[in-house]
Amino acid sequence: MVAVPVILRTGRATLSPVSQAPATRQDKSVPQAAPIAPSGHHHPGAPLVDRFGRVHRDLRISLTDRCSLRCTYCMPEQGNEWLARTSILSTDEIVRVATVAAASGITTFRLTGGEPLLRTDIIDVVRRLAAIEGADGPVEIAMTTNGIRLDAVLPGLIEAGVNRLNISIDTLDRDRFRALTRRDRLDDVRAGIAAAAASGLRPLKLNAVAMRGINDDELVDLVAFALDHGAEMRFIEQMPLDAGHTWDRARMVTREEILAALSTRWHLEPVPGRGGAPAERFLIDGGPAAVGVIASVTAPFCGACDRLRLTADGQLRNCLFSNDEYDLMPLLRAGADDVAIDALLHECIAGKLPGHAIDDPSFLQPARGMNAIGG
Ligand code: SAM
Ligand code: SF4
Repeated sequence: MVAVPVILRTGRATLSPVSQAPATRQDKSVPQAAPIAPSGHHHPGAPLVDRFGRVHRDLRISLTDRCSLRCTYCMPEQGNEWLARTSILSTDEIVRVATVAAASGITTFRLTGGEPLLRTDIIDVVRRLAAIEGADGPVEIAMTTNGIRLDAVLPGLIEAGVNRLNISIDTLDRDRFRALTRRDRLDDVRAGIAAAAASGLRPLKLNAVAMRGINDDELVDLVAFALDHGAEMRFIEQMPLDAGHTWDRARMVTREEILAALSTRWHLEPVPGRGGAPAERFLIDGGPAAVGVIASVTAPFCGACDRLRLTADGQLRNCLFSNDEYDLMPLLRAGADDVAIDALLHECIAGKLPGHAIDDPSFLQPARGMNAIGG
């Protein structure tokens, strides 16, 4: 692997966030650290620490808002307005932002979308990001994908330096899959999972959004399927991020219900030491295999959040549910220097709220769907 040295050039950004809607209220269920007064100044390469002392190490990069599926909880069936191709970050621009972020302590890049494998230069993107040397050594490259096309590109991705994969599969039933994703592609997803299992790339994680009346009778089967593939199943509570704005708290399958369903088959034992990870993990029958639950709604984990997002059109977001975006495009396309980019990264982190307040009646869903924000 070729290490790309991190060099910051001088300058200072003065851009303010672009607000899409009024900011959400604080989530009272989130453990509240006393806010730390922002200094307003930082030296280039200073860690990305917010007002609550959270150190940011994980940058989620959305490579495209487009997708090969149309999952009902994420995208509308039709009528989605795609980002113009000229508004999408080039690979040079992504690598530039990522290099600056790594100098300020980002250690993991998670590639997502939309569907990251739809990006035609995906292997080049992985290769160039994997070559970035952070302050503490090489960065880690993770990817969240729907698995379609994965069997074809996996050898290239591994050779380019991908370290970890999360593959989404919500159901093992072909008719259900077609209804849920509005595409008849379950066999392609299974081929992608089989390729990942055979590759030996570990840990391998499978993601499913648990949905009432859709797949909530399949939770045990999905865990068994993951175990058969040497993978770890993770169930996600459905979040209000669908482009159609149809999310309903009352219909959501909760963490408690997921654990109750799995406990009918296995003894689950909490794994300590979660850190900033979204998933709460449980050993299955004493381990070593485990299952994860991502309970963003009923048990938010904002207090340990170390994540920052870059959308495909160059907006920095400090939270999935934030209504503020920090626009890197004017900097990237008008010749700003790296210190200006670094300053906007710090400004974005300085504006982070303690929690997302999904469960609060005053919660406002972000204007963009999950495919456009980057899951
Ligand atoms: N297309 C890729 C995929 O599906 O894995 C990557 C992008 S997708 C937006 C990333 C993850 O977000 C997927 O695991 C998906 O299930 C999850 N997701 C999308 N919309 C969601 C929602 N409304 N609530 C919870 N999870 C959601
Ligand atoms: Fe596409 Fe992933 Fe959204 Fe499904 S969840 S529509 S696969 S971006």
